Amino acid sequence: MKTALPSRPPPVVLAAPSGTGKTTIARALVDGFEDFVFSVSVTTRAPRAGERDGVDYEFVTAGEFQRMVAAEELVEWAEVHGNLYGTPRRGIEAARETGRHPVLDIDVQGARQVRERLPDAILVFVFPPSGNALGARLAKRGTEDDAEVRRRLRAAHREMEESAGFDYIIVNEELSAAVARVREVVLSEGHRTERVRDLEAEVARVRAEIDRLLAAGTPRNAAAG
Ligand code: ADP
Ligand code: 5GP
Repeated sequence: MKTALPSRPPPVVLAAPSGTGKTTIARALVDGFEDFVFSVSVTTRAPRAGERDGVDYEFVTAGEFQRMVAAEELVEWAEVHGNLYGTPRRGIEAARETGRHPVLDIDVQGARQVRERLPDAILVFVFPPSGNALGARLAKRGTEDDAEVRRRLRAAHREMEESAGFDYIIVNEELSAAVARVREVVLSEGHRTERVRDLEAEVARVRAEIDRLLAAGTPRNAAAG
């Protein structure tokens, strides 16, 4: 059953203050649905326990990062909490060529750059249900010391204001509901007229069939297709 015309899968940007849950949502989308692929960022940050090179991030030296910037290999990049992070262009293109949505888990500065460089991207701001929940999630994750948690909360205070510039706001209260909402948004976007690939050809195809029906006489007994 055909429910959508062909469209080029847009990248999905999930941005949010640190601790809101964007990585958790991105991973759930990618693990749960084969039309989503995680965009693996490059970073100069040291790997955390359990992180795998090439899966969670590509861990690179500052020199290699600068080389990638100079060679325009990154769609966007930013300094976040003292480290450099960037989105390689090749991963985005590879995903789209295989008909899948690249999922970018990036900060709000990066999202702003994506808006300019990949204008067809869907920008989703993942909204914390409350300041208290955000503080509790950062503390519970336990990957930063107290001073760093406070720094991230101060950054969050600033970043919340940027939510107004996004296409969609999705509250991450209950995880599975938030994942379902992101997926719905992405699927709905695929039906937007301007996203349909080669609409003229699709119109011509249906019109040619109508012409054939008309030429054959009254289509009262034609088989439905
Ligand atoms: P971010 O990528 O935005 O920094 P994470 O995905 O690392 O955030 O999530 C921060 C913490 O919050 C993690 O410990 C994660 O397990 C937890 N978390 C994520 N989503 C939810 C949710 N809906 N309810 C409760 N805890 C959550
Ligand atoms: P962490 O070091 O905790 O994994 O990530 C810190 C912040 O950097 C998070 O907000 C994360 O989304 C962001 N980040 C990760 N990859 C990228 C990227 O490629 N570009 C940008 N701009 N931010 C990123």
